Amino acid sequence: MLDQLTERLTGALKTLRGQARLSESNIQDVLREVRIALLEADVALPVVKEFVDTVRREALGQAVLSSLTPGQAFIGVVHQVLTRLMGEQNEGLNLATQPPAVILMAGLQGAGKTTTAGKLAKWLKEQQKKKVLLVSCDIYRPAAIEQLQILSQSIEVDFFPSFAHQAPEEIALAALDHARHHYHDVLIVDTAGRLAIDEAMMQEIQRLHQTIHPVETLFVVDAMQGQDAVNTARAFGEALPLTGIILTKLDGDARGGAALSVRHVTQRPIKFIGVGEKLTGLEAFHPERMASRILG
Ligand code: GDP
Repeated sequence: MLDQLTERLTGALKTLRGQARLSESNIQDVLREVRIALLEADVALPVVKEFVDTVRREALGQAVLSSLTPGQAFIGVVHQVLTRLMGEQNEGLNLATQPPAVILMAGLQGAGKTTTAGKLAKWLKEQQKKKVLLVSCDIYRPAAIEQLQILSQSIEVDFFPSFAHQAPEEIALAALDHARHHYHDVLIVDTAGRLAIDEAMMQEIQRLHQTIHPVETLFVVDAMQGQDAVNTARAFGEALPLTGIILTKLDGDARGGAALSVRHVTQRPIKFIGVGEKLTGLEAFHPERMASRILG
């Protein structure tokens, strides 16, 4: 799907590349193609509108029409606006707090929370030399707790056990206490997701948030969710003071559109992207690179 977006934009822009001159009317034509491409890639409508309006304004404002290479100038404007809407620069994790810095993972079931918790733990341990503790508050799925335990073992990071009869806040507080006493720098709290947005799930994670005061509340979202990613992002953004987003499964057939619209809906930085099932499949998000990838 990302490829489709790329193809579409490339196709639309090609018509410009062939133009000796560019007029306001053929800018309109290309903008229409850009609009369709973004909609097809499941970018949310308000984002598409803002994008197209901004590109039009800037293309006209930046004397694209009088440029010697208007097609290239136009592509430059599209690239700039895409980059800007996705946040301009990479924003890293904020761990500037009294240790242990708590990271709360939020998102729907299947989004990649547990895998990403493991990836982050590995990254923090190896790249940032942090002592990390992992805990799961998913009391509904013992398999999820076990999954995190297995991940912890494979990366040799400490794991705090939890059990189905405990309350999520109780688990998180006990883990926090353990982390304090064992001088962990970072505590990563994995949470229960559901297959769809659910009031009980939201209340539970809100309570968890209020209990453990995380310095990072990361919304993990599957880039393949398309338009649904927008609704999920909106719901989590309204329920929690998110500090960042991790967009997973960008190694697959993911729609590039999710990056644009999730950012727009939450107004929070995308901090990392998931690019594989393996625990090495985590990369810092670079808006500029994503813009290039979308444009092809
Ligand atoms: P959770 O329910 O949110 O904790 O999701 P999981 O971490 O269990 O992940 C759900 C599925 O997505 C698993 O099969 C993961 O291996 C897979 N997954 C997670 N992140 C990625 C990613 O970045 N790329 C790919 N291809 N698969 C991923």
